[in-house]
Amino acid sequence: MRPGPSQDDVRRQNLGALLRHVHVHGATTRAELTTTLGLNRSTIGALTADLSAVGLVSEGAPKETGRAGRPSLVVRPESARVYAYAYSVEVDRLRAARVGLGGAVLDRRELDRPRGLLAAEAAPLLAGAVKEMQQLVPADAICVGAGVAVCGMVRRDDGLVRLGPTTGWVDEPIGAAVADELGIDVPVTVGNVADVAAFAEHARGVAAGCDNVLYLYGDVGVGAGIIAGGRRLTGHGGYGGEVGHMKVVRDGRPCECGARGCWETEIGEHGLLRAAGRSDARGRDALLEVFDAADRGDARAQTAVRQAGDWLGFGVANLVNVFNPEMVIFGGTMRDLYLAAAAQIRSRLNSNALGACLEHVRLRTPKLGEDAPLIGAAELAFERLLADPLDVG
Ligand SMILES: [Zn+2]
Repeated sequence: MRPGPSQDDVRRQNLGALLRHVHVHGATTRAELTTTLGLNRSTIGALTADLSAVGLVSEGAPKETGRAGRPSLVVRPESARVYAYAYSVEVDRLRAARVGLGGAVLDRRELDRPRGLLAAEAAPLLAGAVKEMQQLVPADAICVGAGVAVCGMVRRDDGLVRLGPTTGWVDEPIGAAVADELGIDVPVTVGNVADVAAFAEHARGVAAGCDNVLYLYGDVGVGAGIIAGGRRLTGHGGYGGEVGHMKVVRDGRPCECGARGCWETEIGEHGLLRAAGRSDARGRDALLEVFDAADRGDARAQTAVRQAGDWLGFGVANLVNVFNPEMVIFGGTMRDLYLAAAAQIRSRLNSNALGACLEHVRLRTPKLGEDAPLIGAAELAFERLLADPLDVG
């Protein structure tokens, strides 16, 4: 028989659970923690003291409650002192942020990214942004790690971007490049942008409390972050969720992945611009112009948006049948397409998805908006801390 968990294991687990609670929900009274975590008052007191001793939480009196009697102390995450660096490598821009425990973005920088820029070229630009932010970090602050959201297929073991069809990346070691440039010895975790954004919306966004979620993220390409049974579903190597490369047209249009007829050739940036008669244009702004033109009554733009909306509903119907999510979130350019073509998407979804799978599915836009990749990248870094809170610094 295997031995049960040791006292030390139980303590570690409880420390993680308490820290996770205040990280996700913010300031919480000891009384609420006792109820939520199912631990007695003296255990909560001891755990809080341990976390407080290493500077992860602080305790104080609550705001005036107006009630008689001794108020329960409030436990707060040390948001300004404990932080992670978060990066988002997107098709047209690079972003870096300092995110505090508790999920608040404390500082941020944004740079244009010429399409085709490689990892070794992107990392120094991101490092420059971090150096600027570092000048404003309090001397006693603790950096617990860094996370990177990147549009591409990420090898889970080491953060190598195996393929980024929309960025031109093949076997680009963005995790190692960022770690080399960061100048502080902390772990760097890399994830696909859709996975990472889904993680953020599930932890503290529109999908909080939902355990089966599909997050569609669009830019030039389209990918999905999938939460199944409360866990991220990323496949054997980390490459799962590449829904943009579902084959929807036999021998259809060529895709940047090298195959033909992929879903993203119809709903991604190129497909929509082509259908709108603007094949020479590129980028998010060009796409937004199409939605604007459709809104103003431009017939060609309206047809393009309707067609893309129909294709979006068609693919979502398949995904709803496969994963039976309770929520589908439309992020990045998929948000714009969803808002512009909700009727087509709904109609196609209703006629193509199985009734039982459709029963409880809600269609939503992200609560964290464009910050989802950054906040999710920070969450990747915080995961290690939450697993073993006393192993910091
Ligand atoms: Zn493809």
